[in-house]
Amino acid sequence: MKYAIFGDIHANLEGLEAVLADSKEQGCTDYVCVGDIVGYASNPKECLARVRELDCPVVKGNHDEEAVLDTSLEGLNPLAKFAMEWTRNQLDEEEREYLTNLKLVRQVRDFTIVHATLDTPGGWTYVTNKFDAMASFSYQFTQLCFYGHTHTPRIYVKGDSVDAAEETSVDLTMGTKYFINVGSAGQPRDGDWRAAYAIYDVENQNVTIRRLEYDIQTAQQKILDAGLPEMLAHRLALGK
Ligand code: ZN
Repeated sequence: MKYAIFGDIHANLEGLEAVLADSKEQGCTDYVCVGDIVGYASNPKECLARVRELDCPVVKGNHDEEAVLDTSLEGLNPLAKFAMEWTRNQLDEEEREYLTNLKLVRQVRDFTIVHATLDTPGGWTYVTNKFDAMASFSYQFTQLCFYGHTHTPRIYVKGDSVDAAEETSVDLTMGTKYFINVGSAGQPRDGDWRAAYAIYDVENQNVTIRRLEYDIQTAQQKILDAGLPEMLAHRLALGK
């Protein structure tokens, strides 16, 4: 049994479709989403429909939360503010309700999923180093936890100490915990434009992060056609 674990789609349908096609080819039968389905790109409704069609466990991301609020967006930078207002205007009542009802943390089989951190899941802080990872590990009661939010794939390993694994693939060892960022399907920010997701191979007790080229030109053109800021199209190619 293989799980495909993906998130930070951010309304990029081309990125999401590439992930789903590849995971099928890789023999994945089950799907899990770590949140931020909407926000930034031009296909929030289509991405929502596609994820819901999978009928899989999903946790709420900060953009999923923001998209259903009617609070002021004054704190956001102009780019994020414009994109969020646009996104809010696309969603209907039923889609809003779906996003509202998503949970912040879930256990799936023998692992946990969360969007940002396990220590303050609704605080939307970022895990960018091993000290941040240590805080999450204190609240991790399963061997494995998958998360997103930074849009940067990373494998944190907690044995005697906490370290970030150099490799993008890890064989799981009993008694060791893993906090794994699956990267972003729709807006990578580690300087690599390719879509990212993770495969958890249950039989072989292994997790691998995969990177995939996708139809970025179409995704960029759709952002421009929707009247969203040009920078949102541009940054996809930069992987930032
Ligand atoms: Zn995100």
